[in-house]
Amino acid sequence: MFGLIGHLTSLEHAKTVAKDLGYPEYADQGLDFWCSAPPQTVDTITVTSATGQVIEGYYVESCFLPEMLATRRIKAAIRKILNAMAHAQKQGIHITALGGFSSIIFEEFDLSKHRQVRNVELDFERFTTGNTHTAYIICQQVEQGAQQLGIDLHQSKVAIIGATGDIGSAVCRWLQAKTNVSELLLVARNQERLQNLQAELGGGQIMEMTEALAEADVVVWVASMPKGMEIEASKLKQPCLLIDGGYPKNLGSKLSHPNIHVMNGGIVEHSLDIDWKIMSIVNMDVPARQLFACFAESMILEFEKWHTNFSWGRNQITVDKMEQIGQASLKHGFRPLLSLVAN
Ligand code: NDP
Repeated sequence: MFGLIGHLTSLEHAKTVAKDLGYPEYADQGLDFWCSAPPQTVDTITVTSATGQVIEGYYVESCFLPEMLATRRIKAAIRKILNAMAHAQKQGIHITALGGFSSIIFEEFDLSKHRQVRNVELDFERFTTGNTHTAYIICQQVEQGAQQLGIDLHQSKVAIIGATGDIGSAVCRWLQAKTNVSELLLVARNQERLQNLQAELGGGQIMEMTEALAEADVVVWVASMPKGMEIEASKLKQPCLLIDGGYPKNLGSKLSHPNIHVMNGGIVEHSLDIDWKIMSIVNMDVPARQLFACFAESMILEFEKWHTNFSWGRNQITVDKMEQIGQASLKHGFRPLLSLVAN
């Protein structure tokens, strides 16, 4: 049995989908109501691997909303994640992915200290951030997307916005080790962490975001921003490929320019339909087959019976582990989403 802990992208989004999820009493409520709402199992899922193996899982809605961070309702945000984890564990789920902000909150507020949630002692082996598979898929999107658009990585600069993060640092390690990319442009706010990353990589150029966006042929957005940024096409190099791996999306604006190609980052497409309803609620183009790579990681771990916290902690994702999860991903029928967002 696998599990997925997820959340919606904003209060507005939550209000719109509450009815679809079968909770009409949540639809007209404000942020305070969501702060006190308990986690709910809102979907049961059946997935068939390309090998023919069938597994079952649950989607747990944590009722966390990014506005809780923006308005400093930190205690509520922490409660949401711990309660959702306890809820998943009580249902006997072997391996559960902490989607979107769940793992970011877990790390940022050091929730490993809070093992006891009422009568449940959390067993962290039963949870995975899903970030190893997400980073692997984003790297595939960089490599295959660039090739599709005729962008030669050997001649190209790749900017990583959120380079020092768990996913960003893994993407940097892979691109450095496995591709001949001309230069990595490293963007984040904390300078000390940027310098540590640059030392670890033995390369890469630390840059301000605007400078990097003007120079990059490929931009990977993996910054943990609670709300997307508005970017003008004129501030970007043309042509360029933008891979938006954030949840919520890092790009707040829709870029309608023939030379700017946007791809939804960290998304996979399965070769067979998945029996669930949750992906239509988060607006996937093909909800029966497309999903977040972090969710797919818990499915892969269940298929392989690797009941362990495969991705855990921060900035520990190795190229070897990315290769390992990547091979299992292919075996079970997952592929990186390579279609471009329509202009
Ligand atoms: P982390 O918190 O580990 O890293 C976030 C990075 O973004 C850090 O480098 C941080 O550095 C940087 N950052 C944050 N805010 C800004 C800003 N305003 N400007 C520039 N840099 C910024 O996050 P993860 O790596 O775990 O996740 C990254 C994103 O990926 C999130 O949006 C998450 O929801 C999404 N995600 C997607 C998944 C999928 O399946 N598609 C799975 C898991 C996560 P600093 O603070 O120094 O600026």
